[in-house]
Amino acid sequence: MSFSFDIKKSESGSLARVGTINTPHGPIQTPAFIPVGTKATVKSVLPESMKDLGSQALLSNAYHLYLQPGSDILDEAGGLAQFMNWPGPTFTDSGGFQVLSLGVGFKKVLAMDAQTFRRDDVIAGNKDRLAHVDDEGVTFKSHLDGSMHRFTPEVSMQVQHQIGADIMFAFDECTTLHNTRPYQELAMDRTYAWAIRCLDEHKRLTEERVGKPYQALFGVIQGAQYEDLRKKAATDLGSLESNGQSFDGFGIGGALDKGQLGTIVSWVNEILPEDKPRHLLGIGAPEDLFVGVENGCDTFDCVLASRIARTSAVYTMEGRFNLSNSRFKRDFTPIDSECDCYTCTHYTRAYMHHVFRGKEIISATLATIHNERFIVRLVDQMRQALLDGNFADMKADFLGRYLHRSGQSRD
Ligand SMILES: [Zn+2]
Repeated sequence: MSFSFDIKKSESGSLARVGTINTPHGPIQTPAFIPVGTKATVKSVLPESMKDLGSQALLSNAYHLYLQPGSDILDEAGGLAQFMNWPGPTFTDSGGFQVLSLGVGFKKVLAMDAQTFRRDDVIAGNKDRLAHVDDEGVTFKSHLDGSMHRFTPEVSMQVQHQIGADIMFAFDECTTLHNTRPYQELAMDRTYAWAIRCLDEHKRLTEERVGKPYQALFGVIQGAQYEDLRKKAATDLGSLESNGQSFDGFGIGGALDKGQLGTIVSWVNEILPEDKPRHLLGIGAPEDLFVGVENGCDTFDCVLASRIARTSAVYTMEGRFNLSNSRFKRDFTPIDSECDCYTCTHYTRAYMHHVFRGKEIISATLATIHNERFIVRLVDQMRQALLDGNFADMKADFLGRYLHRSGQSRD
């Protein structure tokens, strides 16, 4: 097995730690932000540019790659990294999140804040759903051509083994903050039963696919905003072993009320085995990354940095703003004067404003490079601050400037 996690330093008085995840495709120094290339590409940016901006690994989506081009094609290509010309480690999510986004959350809001939305806003009616969950798996309609498909824990493992990422996630049911408490319990029992089936199928496939690099499997901790459910999931999955196979690490997933993020993550990370890596799924706003790191998460992924870049929104030390705004028409300074990315060292806000207004393709490329660099570097700076023993000061400095100048810090 060529997967391991070494902890270099643990912060006293908090759950934060610095470490290295070793994978067959290379190491990841943690804490680390993992940019998302949903369909085996970070939209509009070359893999070489992602490497240059400091990305240590990329995360793709098993559900999307299964539908197109088909996971068998990635297998034939030699796996995800080889297929997309990415010279480093890769992750795939399990497709479980799509259960939420195509099922109960279809065309609805993936609520980060339980107080903001009414129940009708986040739960799609039964007939509107593209996916239906039962105890065995999920039946869903392709968003591409309407064809019907079925994911079970076994299918998810088969698909992810074919895709060949270094780190995979167990198939889970991701609920929303607005599912009832009895439903959260039901979904958690299902996720536990599916975790055992994932471990068994993962073990079978690892033994069957002789000569392939070892793929690590992370279990996913659900339980929404409920302390007892989160702690139970962490206890049960943290110690789970089936036929000698246990999880190599853990993902913390599901509905995470932004105001409670740190509390929920600490419930879980105080229980999970200390010597295994923890990934906080789908979290990537700057202020949330601090909360994740100080509460013991090692890696993070989020589509936000690239998604908002394509709409001209950029992260800077002066907060988040839109380059399309006419105030940048004659602004010949970089997007962020403290940023060392390719875009900031070669282009001005005036040029970015021009290409966004003209709907030029390069606008997406340049803005994405900047945003991904900003977030990757921010987490790199947190890692360095932990090593230097000044994380609290670094956090206070950053948030003091970022939140003060942002006006709005939330996404
Ligand atoms: Zn930049």
